[in-house]
Amino acid sequence: LVVALFLEAADAEYRRYRDPTKPMGGRIRDLMGRMTLQEKIGQMVQIDRKVASADVVKNYFIGSILSGGGSVPGQKASPEEWIKMVNEYQRGAMSTRLGIPLIYGIDAVHGHNNVYNATIFPHNIGLGATREPALVKKIGAATALEMRATGIPYAFAPCIAVCRDPRWGRCYESYSEDTEIVKAMTELIPGLQGDVPADARKGVPYVAGKRKVAACAKHFVGDGGTVKGINENNTIIDWNGLRRIHMPAYFASIVKGVSTVMVSYSSWNGVRMHANRNLVTSYLKDTLKFRGFVISDWQGIDRLTDPPHANYTYSVEKAVAAGLDMVMVPLNYTEFIDDLTLLVNKGVIPMSRIDDAVRRILRVKFVLGLFDNPMADDSMVNELGKQEHRELAREAVRKSLVLLKNGKDGSSILPLPKKAPKILVAGYHAHNLGYQCGGWTIEWEGFSGNDRTPGTTILTAIKAAVDPTTKVTYEEAPTADYVKANDFSYAIVVVGEHPYVETGGDNLNLTIPDPGPATIRNVCGSVKCVVVLISGRPLVIEPYVDSMDGLVAAWLPGTEGRGVTDVLFGDYGFTGKLPRTWFRRVDQLPMNVGDKHYDPLFPFGFGLTTEPVKGN
Ligand code: BGC
Repeated sequence: LVVALFLEAADAEYRRYRDPTKPMGGRIRDLMGRMTLQEKIGQMVQIDRKVASADVVKNYFIGSILSGGGSVPGQKASPEEWIKMVNEYQRGAMSTRLGIPLIYGIDAVHGHNNVYNATIFPHNIGLGATREPALVKKIGAATALEMRATGIPYAFAPCIAVCRDPRWGRCYESYSEDTEIVKAMTELIPGLQGDVPADARKGVPYVAGKRKVAACAKHFVGDGGTVKGINENNTIIDWNGLRRIHMPAYFASIVKGVSTVMVSYSSWNGVRMHANRNLVTSYLKDTLKFRGFVISDWQGIDRLTDPPHANYTYSVEKAVAAGLDMVMVPLNYTEFIDDLTLLVNKGVIPMSRIDDAVRRILRVKFVLGLFDNPMADDSMVNELGKQEHRELAREAVRKSLVLLKNGKDGSSILPLPKKAPKILVAGYHAHNLGYQCGGWTIEWEGFSGNDRTPGTTILTAIKAAVDPTTKVTYEEAPTADYVKANDFSYAIVVVGEHPYVETGGDNLNLTIPDPGPATIRNVCGSVKCVVVLISGRPLVIEPYVDSMDGLVAAWLPGTEGRGVTDVLFGDYGFTGKLPRTWFRRVDQLPMNVGDKHYDPLFPFGFGLTTEPVKGN
């Protein structure tokens, strides 16, 4: 040992934290012992790539960069271009005195959804309908590979909100209104990160090598429980309720070694989560023993005051004192750095609090292997959008569909015959990949149309699935006269919501957007019809159900439209079960399974089944 110490001391270049043969704890201690306050505070800052450069990273010792929604290197950037970009920032970080690598994060919430040609999986609500945690785990693994294809090691997923009110604009990001389902779907975490070893210490983040990524359980906590489902609002519930409904998925995530937790914009009983020391520090860190890092939401600190950024020093103090470790996109990052420096120098924020934050951030970076392998390489570029992943997404789509109605007067309409003289496909949603994918796809708000990324629309899938002799006619918004005049064997009507995200999706009436209702009326009043509803949540459909012969909730299925036709035409059976209560009227909301006055149109767990048919 003496000799070793002597040799270490003799070699001026030796830095223990750089030595991959040394245990992680010692490496972190060694590194922290060398860091200045400025270098430590820099680690706590995450900036958007739009304001980032290698120089900014270098000059401010920035710890992390993210691609916020739509913040991408180019609309159709290739994996190689992504890697080039990520590495350019990383070079900035590695050229600092201590060479601490950056961690680059992205909202890969239904596949690597910001990236051209990525496989887009169904949004969480659809995955909740599958009731298959093992499938969700596979989706996590595929997403990790597609992320690594572009050199990105950190996903802001899963959203483990338990959405209690579908008027919330993020309802589709929630697996279910039911805690047990959400908890089971935390299997996305070992999918993204790998299975935590049996002998691991509880709460320690875990990532199994270069084909896996760090995950983020969000948004801590009670984000899905706000009044009327208003985004970023107040969740009014007692401690037992919070613990019983909104916490269990966090318990599970921590056991599975989740690397990070994102704090919610919302409040609990009037206290902003971004300033809630009891929940973030005393409960999450101390009681639950979470040892990864806690990240704020986008400008979450700024929003601690109303109007935002009104008293920034106060906001910085509250948030850091509450236990936040990394700050996502402070409105003005130099101001954040200056304010926090001042607060530490004045003794308002103790150095031990900064050390706690930095230790956690470095831990995740070590766990990710970034110190030993900071640069992304192009060895995995072929993982992006590969066939195997698209097949997996197609399977997920099949299993996510919930059959709500099948036929009238005892005779069923599904599965539909592939061979028919002439069929009608109606509705704008039948041939719009953007609508099919919903929010958080290519752009933050999603997109409309078919040219932003490759995929298969439901119309294209129908044409591919039917018998070559079947004539398929597509009309976006047919009139009743048109439908009556033509001699269609049956019609498939695809209508629903348009993409939305976060507060922009809050909706107090939950009606089917126009011209959906008219399309349903015109078609279903004139010919046998199956309605496929594309939506991020249950909508008001009771007034139309009687006119339909069949009704399928398809949620937001993503790029693989063939999953829909696999089931419509009976190659596979319907198996999906409602992950939420389907209300009749919005005046019933909130209404969740187990409530006293439970009078749904379709109850939680409902879903008709069909048998696969051979030779259809
Ligand atoms: C959302 C988060 C997301 C973050 C980064 C925020 O607006 O609430 O869910 O991870 O943006 O894009």
